[in-house]
Amino acid sequence: MNAYPAADDPVPVTAGANRMLDLRSDTVTRPTAGMYDAMQTAPLGDDVYGDDPTVNRLQEKAASLLGKESALLFPSGTQSNLAAVMSHCARGEEFIIGKGYHIVTYEAMGSAVLGSVAASVVPTDGNGQIPIAEIRSAIKAEDPHFPVSRLLSLENTHNGRVIPLDYVAEAAAVARESGLNVHMDGARMMNAAVALDVPPSKVVADVDTVSLCLSKGLGTPAGSVLAGPSDFIARARRIRKMLGGGMRQSGILAACGIYALDNQVARLADDHANAAQLAEGLARLSGGGLSVAAHNTNMVFIDVDDRHRQGLQERLAERGVRISGRSGTIRLVLHLDISAEDIDRIVDAFGYACGVS
Ligand SMILES: *Cc1c(COP(=O)(O)O)cnc(C)c1O
Repeated sequence: MNAYPAADDPVPVTAGANRMLDLRSDTVTRPTAGMYDAMQTAPLGDDVYGDDPTVNRLQEKAASLLGKESALLFPSGTQSNLAAVMSHCARGEEFIIGKGYHIVTYEAMGSAVLGSVAASVVPTDGNGQIPIAEIRSAIKAEDPHFPVSRLLSLENTHNGRVIPLDYVAEAAAVARESGLNVHMDGARMMNAAVALDVPPSKVVADVDTVSLCLSKGLGTPAGSVLAGPSDFIARARRIRKMLGGGMRQSGILAACGIYALDNQVARLADDHANAAQLAEGLARLSGGGLSVAAHNTNMVFIDVDDRHRQGLQERLAERGVRISGRSGTIRLVLHLDISAEDIDRIVDAFGYACGVS
């Protein structure tokens, strides 16, 4: 018996008018029917031997889409970013990165623990960018008192915010003047490409290396690709093995990645439109102690008064809406499994939960 649905079946976990609308992240999506089909029919081999034709096809496709020499599939974005930092920086060297960026906030500081690489964490502005002056002053002079500044690490999108291309070009130029390489944590860089209406290669044209998550808005069950120069990817391959990321018949995952890149990039525009519609709907719920702080690409950020905050998650769950975060600004993320028709139900659920229905 198949544990997975046939390609032409509706995907059961996401079907039905009363299904839970999960706004915690764009990582919660289930494979679409077409994606299941791609998994079942993918030619497979042992990728540790370099023998999996589907993995090779994904890596070639990603490299070409991103305009880089080579690409490598990883089980996660965390491992891809860590391998990138460790491939750029040797023990005792450092990378410059913005405060709050994923690599230094949500990746257990693997760069320090496993790479012996120091993070030089510098402030960002209100738009999620590291001011150019901060980059300049963070780059250390050649002096035995200091670690060697080796890498500048950017993030796009950051909290859903698109980082402008001219900023990336300027930041990269400043880094290169001092011999630093530039990495982009582009977990959601396809959202930036779609929002800017430019080819993905343009978003990463000024950086040396990029990590792209296939499992966020693109909707695969797992996987990220790291792209960059061939010698860099060769180092990253050894580090991936060291980190336990060498996978065998991973063509099953790569097939999802190929399917996503072919079929689920342009539709990110739907998530952006749905986020705008949700922000608009929530802004109309006046008197409920709820305010919309920002909406960027596929994310909406809201603040809720303390008196409504208590039990908010539970009241939303009663109406089939799931959120994360019990304090501070709440992030709502739109994705493949939330349609335009679902937005009214979400707004109604917030109205109920905040007493303004
Ligand atoms: C999710 C994410 C990652 C890490 O990806 P995982 O696949 O969850 O390990 C890295 N950077 C950013 C900005 C992310 O949103």
